[in-house]
Amino acid sequence: MYQNLIFDWSGTLVNDLPPTLFATNAVLREHNVPAMELAEFRERFRLPYPEFYEEVLPGVAIESLEGLFRSAFGSSPEQVTILPHAREMMEWCRAQKIRCFVLSSMDSTIFNHQARELKMDHFFEEIYSGVIDKRDRIGEILTTHELAPEKTAFVGDMVHDIETAHHGGIASVAVTTGYDPEPRLRKAEPRHLFQDLSAFREWLESTPPQA
Ligand SMILES: [Mg+2]
Repeated sequence: MYQNLIFDWSGTLVNDLPPTLFATNAVLREHNVPAMELAEFRERFRLPYPEFYEEVLPGVAIESLEGLFRSAFGSSPEQVTILPHAREMMEWCRAQKIRCFVLSSMDSTIFNHQARELKMDHFFEEIYSGVIDKRDRIGEILTTHELAPEKTAFVGDMVHDIETAHHGGIASVAVTTGYDPEPRLRKAEPRHLFQDLSAFREWLESTPPQA
């Protein structure tokens, strides 16, 4: 049974795909690149996101895109919503005294606004947002909070999250509620794969505390 859970944010706890696509397309249009449909975006988008932007807008400095992305994200007709089972999962973790953290690539300004609006920020002992490459930070997070690797898992919806868990020597929990489709997640060999956080919680509940 895991005593510490590090959560990704987008696609794991919240659905921000509509405003993310809207903002991405605003950035593409600014550079005279045709907008993407959702299916193409899901096919091509990956983390760390500078790799994605280098592919779709080669040679454009990533820093020059962030202002427009942020303002377009805020003006998207569809906003961010909390995913089904996410709040229940966090409340359950709190009741179980499982220590919870966030490790997200999302821009910190956007993240802070969302977490506050959705009243989710108080569930986490510490939040790491705006992390471009999560592999660079996972080791430091484990050390700083003295998280035993065998009692710790990283929960996320993308291949990069699974790779980050592998890199940190902790368990990876993939959920299929977000950006990467299930076959792509499976190829990255997560230790667990669940359809959503409620299935993960049921699995945790059925696992003996000493396991
Ligand atoms: Mg995600």
